[in-house]
Amino acid sequence: MATGTPRELIVPLFIPHAGCPHHCIFCNQHAVTGQGCLASPAMPPLAAMEAEIERWLSWSARRHPVEISFYGGTFLGLPVEVMTACLELAHRYVKAGRVHGIRFSTRPDTVTESVLALLAAYPVTTVELGAQSMEDAVLVASTRGHRAAETATAMARLQEHGYRTILQAMVGLPGETRELWDTSLDRMLALSPYGIRIYPTVVLSGSGLEALWRDGLYTPLSLDEAVRRSKEAWMAATQKGIKVIRMGLQESEEMRLSRICAGPHHPAFGHLVHSARFLDMAESLAETAFSPGASPVFRVHPRSISRLRGQKNSNLVHLKKRYALAGVRVAADEALAETALAADGWVVDSVRQIFAKDGES
Ligand code: SF4
Repeated sequence: MATGTPRELIVPLFIPHAGCPHHCIFCNQHAVTGQGCLASPAMPPLAAMEAEIERWLSWSARRHPVEISFYGGTFLGLPVEVMTACLELAHRYVKAGRVHGIRFSTRPDTVTESVLALLAAYPVTTVELGAQSMEDAVLVASTRGHRAAETATAMARLQEHGYRTILQAMVGLPGETRELWDTSLDRMLALSPYGIRIYPTVVLSGSGLEALWRDGLYTPLSLDEAVRRSKEAWMAATQKGIKVIRMGLQESEEMRLSRICAGPHHPAFGHLVHSARFLDMAESLAETAFSPGASPVFRVHPRSISRLRGQKNSNLVHLKKRYALAGVRVAADEALAETALAADGWVVDSVRQIFAKDGES
C-alpha cells in the first residue's frame, strides 16, 4: 500500500531572548520580558524541554528527517554551560535514533571559530542566521549591532563546516528603500544559502521602532508593498534553487504577549504572496488569450487552487472585472507543476519562465 513520502519535522523549542545582549530597533524583547538586556537567560527547565520533545514525537510518527530546533534567542550567544546542556539533551535523542539532527537560530556575530569547534561534537544539521539585511545603512538604522560583512563571514564558516544554512531577511526595515531591499536580497542569494525566511517588519509595542513610528520618523510598508517585495524575493530565490522556508511572522508566544501597533501583518501573509504570484500569471494569460465576454477555465495543480483563487476568491473577482469576462472557472490538473497555470490552450509558469501554447513547453 502506498503511504507517501514522509515529511520533515522540526520540533521547536523556544528559548525566549536567551543569550541576547542587543537592542535591535524592531525587537521588543526587553519590554515583553521585563528583563534587562543582560539578564539571565529565561531558559525553560530541561525537563520541560524534554516533555515538549516527547509531545511532538508522539504526535508525529513517521516524519523524516526530524530536527530538534532551538528558536527565539541567539543560541550561540548563550552561556556555554546552557548551550551545551541544550545540545546534550538533543544529542541524546539523535543517539537513540529518534531524531536526525539539531537546528538553531543565531546572530551572525556569534558564529566564531571557537564556538564552531565546540559545536563539532554535536550532530548540528541546520543553522538559521539572522541576517535581516545585507545593507550596512539599514543594519545601522535598525541598531542591529553587526554589519553585512559579518553575515558573509558567518555564512562562509558555517558552509565550510558543512551546515545547512537558512538566512532570515526582514523587508521594510528603517532606512530601507526599494533599491536597498533589492540589492540586499541579491547579496543574500549570492551567499548561496539552502533557504531563506522573509519577515515583514512590523511595529511592536515597546520596541524602539514604536517610538520612531509615533514621532513620524518611520513609516511601515503597506501590506500590498510588503507582499509585492516578498513575491519578487520568492521568485528570485526559487529561480536560483533556494528554498523559501516561510514568509510572514510566526505567531510565537512573544507575539501573543505583545501588540502590533502598525505594519504589514497578516495571519496568512505567505498565502497572500502566492496568490499575488498566481494573479500575475493569470493576468498575463488574460492579456494574451482572452477576449471580453470569454469564460476561461483556469487549470492548476490541486495544491495551488486556493492560491489561484486568492483570499475569498479575490483574484477571480478581479480578473472577471478587469478583463470583462463572462465567468471564470477553476479546475484541478495534477499533470501541471505546482507553480504553473493553464487556460485556453496556454500554459504559464513564471518560475520556470514558460509562457507557451499548451503542449509546447
Ligand atoms: S532581534 Fe534578536 S538579536 Fe535583536 S534584540 Fe531581539 S532577540 Fe536580540
